[in-house]
Amino acid sequence: MIKIGLEIHCQLTNLASKLFCSCKANYREFESNTNICPVCIGLPGSLPMLNRRAVEKATMISMALNCKTPEKIAFFRKNYFYPDLPKNFQITQYDVYGHTSIGHEGKITIEGKEIRIRRIQIEEDPGRLIYEGSSEKTQITLVDYNRAGTPLVEIVTEPDFENPKQVRLFLNILVDLLSNLGVSDPSLEGALRADGNVSVKGGNKVEIKNVASFHDLEKALHFEITRQQSLVERGIPVISETRQWDDKRKITVSARTKEEEQDYRYFLEGDIPWVKLSPEHFNQLKKEMPESIASKRDRYITKYGIPEQVAEVLSSDKYYTDLFEQAHNEKNAKEIANIITTDLMGFVDTREKREKSKLTHHHLSDLANAIISNKITRSSAKTALLNMVQTGKPLASIITEQDLGNVLDESKISLIINEVLQEESNAVAEIKEKPETVNYLVGKIMKKTKGKADPAKTLDILKKKLGVE
Ligand code: ZN
Ligand code: MN
Repeated sequence: MIKIGLEIHCQLTNLASKLFCSCKANYREFESNTNICPVCIGLPGSLPMLNRRAVEKATMISMALNCKTPEKIAFFRKNYFYPDLPKNFQITQYDVYGHTSIGHEGKITIEGKEIRIRRIQIEEDPGRLIYEGSSEKTQITLVDYNRAGTPLVEIVTEPDFENPKQVRLFLNILVDLLSNLGVSDPSLEGALRADGNVSVKGGNKVEIKNVASFHDLEKALHFEITRQQSLVERGIPVISETRQWDDKRKITVSARTKEEEQDYRYFLEGDIPWVKLSPEHFNQLKKEMPESIASKRDRYITKYGIPEQVAEVLSSDKYYTDLFEQAHNEKNAKEIANIITTDLMGFVDTREKREKSKLTHHHLSDLANAIISNKITRSSAKTALLNMVQTGKPLASIITEQDLGNVLDESKISLIINEVLQEESNAVAEIKEKPETVNYLVGKIMKKTKGKADPAKTLDILKKKLGVE
C-alpha cells in the first residue's frame, strides 16, 4: 500500500506587494538584492504590516478547495536557520493551538477519488540561493533576498494519493483552479512548487524536497516508491528523512534526518495581531470569486450545445476562456469553441507564444462568423487564424491578400470531383476492397480546390457519387 501526500507552495503572483511590506511581489524583474527593505530582510526594529489582499486571495483559495475557514486567523514564527531566511524565522500559520490557518479540512475530487486538504496557510517565501561554479569544491553560494517576503499560500494534502499518476492529475487540476481564480500565474518560473512525502507498507514516511517541476516530482515519486519497496523486501528499515531529487542522476539522495515539528519552536508572531474574518469578508469575496471551471464547462454544454469534451478542454484554461467569453454570442459560440480547441491551441501552446500572439477576441468572432456565413472554409480559416496570431491584421485583409475567400458551391465542387474521379480511375476501382481510398480522393479534391471546398460537404457529395456509405 502506497501513501503519497503533497505540500504545494503557490505564490500569489498577481498581488502588487509582498506579504508584510510594500516591496514588489513581482521580484523577478529586479537586479539582485534591490527589491528589499528593512522589513523583508528582518532588520532589528522593523515591523511587519499584513497585506490585506493576500488574506483575501488566500481565503478565495480556501473556499475554492472547499475548506472550512476560521473566524480568526493568527500568524506564528517558525524558527530555523538557513542563509535564505534573513530573520532566522519564517512568518507562517500553525494549527496546533486550534484552527487559526486560513483553511482546513477541504477536499477536491479527481476522477472520482477524493483528495482531502488538511490545511491551507499563508506564509512568506524565503530568499533565493544561487549556486555558481561547476564542481562541489569551486562552488560558491550567492543569496538574493528579492524574493524574501513574497506572499505564499501553502496547501497541504492528506496522504490520499495511491500513485504518482493521481498526483499528476491533481496538480493539473490545481494549476487550472489557481489560475482560473486569478491568484497566481502558474507559467511563471517558481510560482508553483510541490514537495511530496511517500511511504510504502512496512516503511516510514520520507519527504522529497527541492523538486524543480511537477514533472520531476512525478519521476522522484516513482524512484522513491521503487527504492522503499526494495528496502522493505530485503528487510532493511526505511528511515524517516528528507531526501532531495538529484536531477542529473535521476535519483533521490538523503539530505538530512527530518526535523520534528517541535524543532521549529513555533510561537505566536507578536508583531501581527489576530485578524478577525467577518461574515462580510466572506460574502464580499464570494461575489468577487470568478465562475468555477466546472460551472463554465456545464454552461458551455447546456447553453451552447458544445460537445462535452470540447467544453472540458476549453473551460480548463483561463487564457482560452477569457478569449471565448469576450468573443462569443449565442450564434457563434460553438464555432468559436471549435476554432480554439482544434486550431488555436496548437498555435499558442506556450507562455512565450501567448505573449507574442496578436490575436484578439474580435479576430475570433470575425473568423467564426465568416465560417458560419460560408465566406471561408474551415481549412482556409486555419490559415487565416495563424496569420492573425502572427500579424494581428484584420480577417478581411488576410482573406484578400491570401485569396482565401470564394468558397465553392456544391455544383462547382461536384465538377471538380468528376475531374478527380476520371484522373484517379485506378483508385476508384479499388474502392470496394479498400474503403480508406475515399480519404485519398478527398485529399486530391482538396488540393485541386486549394482548400476552398468545405471538406464535410465534399465528402458527402463524393460518397453519393461513389455509392458508398
Ligand atoms: Zn520589503
Ligand atoms: Mn511552507
